[in-house]
Amino acid sequence: MHDDRLLAEARLKRVLEERIRPAVYPESAPLQVTIWNAPGEPVPVAEGLAAVGSPISVGDAWGAPWGTSWLTVCGTVPAGWAGRTVEALLDLGFDPNRAGFQCEGLVYRPDGTAVKGLNPRNQWVRIGAPVAGGEQVLLHVEAASNPMILGYQPFRPTALGDRDTAGDEPLYRLERMELAVFDDTVWQLVQDLEVLGELMAELPVEGGRRWDILRAVDRALDVLDLQDVNATAAAAREQLAGVLAAPAEPSAHRISAVGHAHIDSAWLWPLRETVRKVARTTANMTALLADEPDFVYAMSQAQQYAWLKEHRPEVYAQVKKAVTEGRFVPAGGMWVESDTNMPGSEAMARQFVHGKRFFLEEFGVDNEEAWLPDTFGFAGGLPQIIKAAGAKWLLTQKISWSQINKFPHHTFLWEGIDGTRIFTHFPPVDTYNCAMLGREIAHAARNFKDKGRARHSLAPTGWGDGGGGTTREMIAKAARMRDLEGSAVVQWERPADFFARAQAEYVDPPVWVGELYLELHRATLTSQAKTKQGNRRSEHLLYEAELWSATAAVRTGLPYPHQELDRLWKTVLLHQFHDILPGSSIAWVHREAEAVYAAVAADLTAIIERAQRALAGDPAAGGEVVFNAAPHARAGVPARAGRLTPAGAGGCTVTAAHGGGWLLDNGLVRVRVDARGLVVSVHDVDNDRETVPAGAAANLLQIHPDFPNKWDAWDVDQFYRNTVVDLTELDEMTVVADGPDAVAVRVVRSFGQSTATQTLTLVAGEKRLAVDTEVDWREREKFLKAAFPLDIHTDRYAAETQYGHIFRPTHTNTSWEAAKFEACNHRFVHLAEPGWGVAVVTGSTYGHDVTRAVRADGGTTTTVRLSLLRAPRFPDPHTDQGLHRFSYALAPGADIGDAVREGYRINLPERRVPGSGDVDALVELDNDAVVATAVKLADDMGGDVVVRVYESQGGRARTRLTPSFDVRSVSVCDLLERPIDGGDTDAAQLIDGAVHIKLRPFEMVTLRLLRSVRS
Ligand SMILES: [Zn+2]
Repeated sequence: MHDDRLLAEARLKRVLEERIRPAVYPESAPLQVTIWNAPGEPVPVAEGLAAVGSPISVGDAWGAPWGTSWLTVCGTVPAGWAGRTVEALLDLGFDPNRAGFQCEGLVYRPDGTAVKGLNPRNQWVRIGAPVAGGEQVLLHVEAASNPMILGYQPFRPTALGDRDTAGDEPLYRLERMELAVFDDTVWQLVQDLEVLGELMAELPVEGGRRWDILRAVDRALDVLDLQDVNATAAAAREQLAGVLAAPAEPSAHRISAVGHAHIDSAWLWPLRETVRKVARTTANMTALLADEPDFVYAMSQAQQYAWLKEHRPEVYAQVKKAVTEGRFVPAGGMWVESDTNMPGSEAMARQFVHGKRFFLEEFGVDNEEAWLPDTFGFAGGLPQIIKAAGAKWLLTQKISWSQINKFPHHTFLWEGIDGTRIFTHFPPVDTYNCAMLGREIAHAARNFKDKGRARHSLAPTGWGDGGGGTTREMIAKAARMRDLEGSAVVQWERPADFFARAQAEYVDPPVWVGELYLELHRATLTSQAKTKQGNRRSEHLLYEAELWSATAAVRTGLPYPHQELDRLWKTVLLHQFHDILPGSSIAWVHREAEAVYAAVAADLTAIIERAQRALAGDPAAGGEVVFNAAPHARAGVPARAGRLTPAGAGGCTVTAAHGGGWLLDNGLVRVRVDARGLVVSVHDVDNDRETVPAGAAANLLQIHPDFPNKWDAWDVDQFYRNTVVDLTELDEMTVVADGPDAVAVRVVRSFGQSTATQTLTLVAGEKRLAVDTEVDWREREKFLKAAFPLDIHTDRYAAETQYGHIFRPTHTNTSWEAAKFEACNHRFVHLAEPGWGVAVVTGSTYGHDVTRAVRADGGTTTTVRLSLLRAPRFPDPHTDQGLHRFSYALAPGADIGDAVREGYRINLPERRVPGSGDVDALVELDNDAVVATAVKLADDMGGDVVVRVYESQGGRARTRLTPSFDVRSVSVCDLLERPIDGGDTDAAQLIDGAVHIKLRPFEMVTLRLLRSVRS
């Protein structure tokens, strides 16, 4: 037999493209369109419907960047179309090469209810099936002219990312506005041929199945009259029926398709546009669910449901109905799909608290899976949090984006830092926008690493981010792959059903211990410093606001600000979304985030001050109460308590050093700043131990060029380290504090177009060199780091994460270790030799690196570098330009407990309030290893006190929690403050009014203290 395969395949491609697809709509009639451009921001629907527009024709330009235009579309169904299926085709000028990321529309009926969205690959509106002929058609379209930020030349700086700079040049041309007859048979033929053609391409040429399909396609095209496709499509389909009916092999891979649209809560568009993106996509999906009985759709992010409820209640009502039927699935149980590297312990927990509670209250759904397909790596603290939220599964596929190492499993148990294991699945389809293409399905089956032991994987299916979700074409293709020889078996399924099945089939899954590090997007730990600072500050203010409000409520009866705290938490949680906190959004998003964080700080400070005033007593008495919110005592003030101003410790000196520079001394630590303003010695007096290796300088600012190959705001590529400039030139150095309680030296340097002013401070009684840095940052595509070379020999170091810390190697023996050249810390990193260690603590930064070198004297220098600032130019061309303030500190002689304490201290500064008396802690803990991350009143507003504690040092701990109020009973709860049935009853017992707590390493426990007397 002669081999004509390529000829036959090329025939299919051309006929499908040029003859069959165009025949889906064989007849059309134009619609009349008028347009009204809303001035400025989007207007309410009623205003858009009522506006009087002016005529616009196909081919005319419309749509200034970020504008909203209301189109009124009207026409009459031709009488001759009676009995046929008719659709309106509304092409706003979409770029068909992109599924989303551009203009979009939402179609309304004249009564203002939403019909469905318009997206690049979803441009139809069903008018009737069949029509009577002669019907009047009147539709309104709210069209959003969002610019395409990630264009054909991606990662180029653009002014389009902010309404303030985007200009008003129209971006789109109206492309197609017509009524058309829809030929279902031809459409079905297209689906048949696409499924078979795509499957065929994935099959081995040596196999018979490939040729069976090829010959069937040949026969179908032979019987198709290319001059009258519509009349002959049914006959062509008959030729394909046999190969479509051949059943799948028993060993075929099984794919649970889950309808999905990954909608980034903000990214290349502002938050307000996501509100509308969600409405458009959800309108599409509720309409599709009504048409397709087998289809199942999952939507994550409670925040997006809340937006829909507020802005498009009629669509939300459809969602509620479909949820009741089990076909629209609230997935993931988080407030947003947040970053998981940077959010602190409590914030990570509250993502689940607020997400799950919303789904419980609105739908009665108690999620058991975490759904984070796109998040940039997963911290080792997360498994315990997922479990404490009452969930047990995790889905993500992002680790498939890793640059260097291929993750060895698709289904496995992920073990966190405390030993909690979570059943985890990475969809082998390697995308969260599966389109049911043959190559995707074949890739999932081939790629699946757990073959032979497991057979099931999940495929999130649909276009996200303005693509409109799952399409009817994807559903038609999935139906053909339900039982098809040569293909994986595809079936629509709820995520929970998939997980239950996958877990049941995999009796002894492999285990991965520690974080799930994404070997990409490492610079998201640093980009947009002010967004990160806003998050860190907000998290600590929220903790303080709850602590002091609960203390004041129990002590003085001051009303607890439940609603206000709820609103502020949700605001902070929203901004932890995986393109906001990571700094990868457009300028508009980060400009707004900065303003939001400022407002959050003002509101929380007001709550804190109100509570502290209520607690501090008579402000006219002349006294001053120092409040210490930190979990450890400091300067004579117990943890979570207030004391009338304690006396200072004294003993600080600053003297001129021999050879220039200054010596700072507080009796605990002696610091030498040399003539260049660099820290060349940090001597731990008690231990007679030097921290900085001879010849090295600590707090050394270093600048690298930083121009990654792609994804500017996201990525720093390893080669950035090849070039470095040490900032050793000094403008001036001045002693700025010289008293018994504190000494400080200020150092000013200029470099490039920028200036850095640093104040190095020793405070009496504290073994810590504090560094306050102010940078006026005017560099482009540069990376600024602060280096601390340390005389420490160790092969690992600890970095704080949620409810504990994770150890990472200081070497690069393997490709896995080498790939982690930039990593995340929360408040501290800690390095130690037995008996002596050093902590570097940070007030707002997250990125860092640790490297090692061996010196000529044989000793090891381990260098910690904090990542302070970057200056990528995409998607925000002016990222991080301007004035920044950072605080960080070096604590010599610190053990891990000291590192924990210093980390809290720098993030929770004391507050001073006029008053007349001491304020006792609401709860006391007698073991510093046990840290309370939340002291609050119960969310159910019943007045119980909720305390969440964890073991912070990685060991076993017992502590007695002594409440300063009468406790009737104590229960161990989940994060949602629900008692855990049959939980670890040993963990907490109430004995003589105190709670005795026993914790495993890094174990976190939520306690609910039932008060005897209610306020
Ligand atoms: Zn995303």
